[in-house]
Amino acid sequence: MTKRILIGTNTPEEKLCPRCGSKMRVGKTWKEKMAMFDGGTRIVTYSEKVCSNKECQDEFDKQRRLETKKLKEAKKKRDELANARKEKIAKKSKKSSK
Ligand SMILES: [Zn+2]
Repeated sequence: MTKRILIGTNTPEEKLCPRCGSKMRVGKTWKEKMAMFDGGTRIVTYSEKVCSNKECQDEFDKQRRLETKKLKEAKKKRDELANARKEKIAKKSKKSSK
């Protein structure tokens, strides 16, 4: 006997905004190709939930843009540091290898 477990596929999803309590709605959906472990690809559908309260959503978008910017800058800094370290090591190994 096999038991089938359905993981909430047909529960109507009515999410409330954690920020202002308004209803969330699906903002946009898009499809992306995802590489599978077996070498093939699969199309995955993504959907983004946005707040029905425009002001709240605008604020959220603004925050997200800031976060993305911060992340990008942090990554750039990390890369720069990593490069500097690599150069240092390269210089060092040049010195020591006469
Ligand atoms: Zn909201």
